Amino acid sequence: MFLCTRCKERLSYSDSSSIGDKGVCDLCGNVLERIDDYFEMFSEEARHYDFSTFLIGLRTPRENLLREKEIIEKSGRNVKSYKEEFQVALGSKIERELHYRAEFAKPELTFIVNQENMDYSLWIKPLFLRGRYVKKRRGIPQSPWIKPGKGKEMERSISEYIGQPICDALDGRDYNFFASGREDVDALMLGTGRPFYVEVKNPKKRSVDITKVSEEVQRKSGDGVEVLELSPADSVEIDHMKNLRLDKVYEVGITIEGKDIGDIEEVLKNHTDFKISQKTPLRVLNIRKDKVRDRTIRSIDVKSTSGKQLILLIKAEAGTYIKEFITGDNGRTVPNLKDELDVNVKIDYLNVLEVK
Ligand SMILES: [Zn+2]
Repeated sequence: MFLCTRCKERLSYSDSSSIGDKGVCDLCGNVLERIDDYFEMFSEEARHYDFSTFLIGLRTPRENLLREKEIIEKSGRNVKSYKEEFQVALGSKIERELHYRAEFAKPELTFIVNQENMDYSLWIKPLFLRGRYVKKRRGIPQSPWIKPGKGKEMERSISEYIGQPICDALDGRDYNFFASGREDVDALMLGTGRPFYVEVKNPKKRSVDITKVSEEVQRKSGDGVEVLELSPADSVEIDHMKNLRLDKVYEVGITIEGKDIGDIEEVLKNHTDFKISQKTPLRVLNIRKDKVRDRTIRSIDVKSTSGKQLILLIKAEAGTYIKEFITGDNGRTVPNLKDELDVNVKIDYLNVLEVK
């Protein structure tokens, strides 16, 4: 077995068979003698990233660590493994000379050396921004819209209008967009907006000019999308948001046939907190599994009336298919407004007013 000078000293290893001329240490593969080199590589990389905490990793062949463990156990002494030795030595040099702070729990930059090819890799902690979005123009889908065989069509999505400027501002490689539920393409999202977050992967910057990015979203979307309350978020807040099930308030414009408006207002008065049973809507049956969902309609109020037209305010549980509740979706949603009122009903428009 051949050991480098560093390993020999550390382990006080004096077996005569350790004298060889291969030049590559059978334990550390000479990484311990290359700490200054890796320090230089780290410094070079560090120039491109905005971060304050880091962690050093060393990927090692398992058998080398086992071999070393045996030697340490035989000697009966208390010695760090070469892996730990490397991480501590390089880490403290970085702290001392570059003034970054070593952190184990959630480092912003992780520098991992691979002993087998002597190369290294970087892992940059993703950055999260959260906020609420308002959609002021119909026709904008929430996620990139792709129809089979047609490629991308229609206009850009909310996810792109919001995600791209944030990703660009942080000089990231890529991003994910997540929102708490979604409105239909032809519905507006008004009021205080819908909660969302953006995860930016591999960000070179870690701070962002919130006002500037918000303006950018509005400008690029031609005033179709606006972000409110944009702010950095930690993983606890993000987990919380993933599990949110928020009630929605809808404003629905409908035209009815077959009854007096006055009668309808009378019927709707009694409609608070009742259960409906929804089979997967016909319009999404090709992309979602057919199953039955029970949902609660919290309240229905008549906002205004004009001739055969009504504007309703409907508050419903998360996950309610509101259009289907109104039209009945060929009997797939029961009870539904059409049957309850015993009228023909056409939806003129749908807006989401509140998500909370
Ligand atoms: Zn060695």
